[in-house]
Amino acid sequence: MNEKGLLIVFSGPSGVGKGTVLRQYLQSHPNTAFSVSATTRSPREGEIHGQHYYFLSREEFETMAANGGLLEYAEFAGNFYGTPRDAVEQRLKEGVDVVLEIEVQGAMQVKKQCPEALLVFVMPPSFEELRRRLSGRGTEDEATVCCRLSNAAREMEAAKQYDYIVVNQTVEQAVDQLEQIVGAAKHTAAYFNEFIDEVEKDAKTCCK
Ligand code: 5GP
Repeated sequence: MNEKGLLIVFSGPSGVGKGTVLRQYLQSHPNTAFSVSATTRSPREGEIHGQHYYFLSREEFETMAANGGLLEYAEFAGNFYGTPRDAVEQRLKEGVDVVLEIEVQGAMQVKKQCPEALLVFVMPPSFEELRRRLSGRGTEDEATVCCRLSNAAREMEAAKQYDYIVVNQTVEQAVDQLEQIVGAAKHTAAYFNEFIDEVEKDAKTCCK
């Protein structure tokens, strides 16, 4: 059977609540790991190095990227973000599902490199609701909120390139949708490719 974990890419505009959905999903799925990204942005209050992000200087980030240490990386709202490659590959090999919570440019890089990855995009119930959620968060000033809203509009243009959409009306419903999507993804032919090859090989040896 397929013993490799599933690589799950989870994207959505700032403020859509994807972090909350993901946290809840991870709590009830212990065989799923969250990939801790590297970033050049400064920590927000309460964020811990190594848990929420690896907070790196621009120079450290560039060195990591140049050495091939990042599975993907992108610039977003003036900062760099990237996925450390080794940790992801190790967990997948161990049979653990890995979730990357990343923006769309990075997601498209993953899609190219790992066609078997599952790409899920979280949409708000409406743009007005997204504006309300983003302003209510209170962690950014007005200019940043504005910048994130225009980024959000641009990000949502890429939603059609994902495999599945989750609409975050309520967290419970969104988590439920994500569970169904992951369940379905674990029965695609692409996910079973290696297993099918193995069985075919055995069949050929047996029927020679
Ligand atoms: P924030 O600064 O709000 O934590 O994240 C800003 C954006 O960067 C979010 O859309 C988040 O999903 C994305 N992001 C976080 N980590 C990564 C990463 O490793 N790679 C890419 N491409 N985007 C990331």
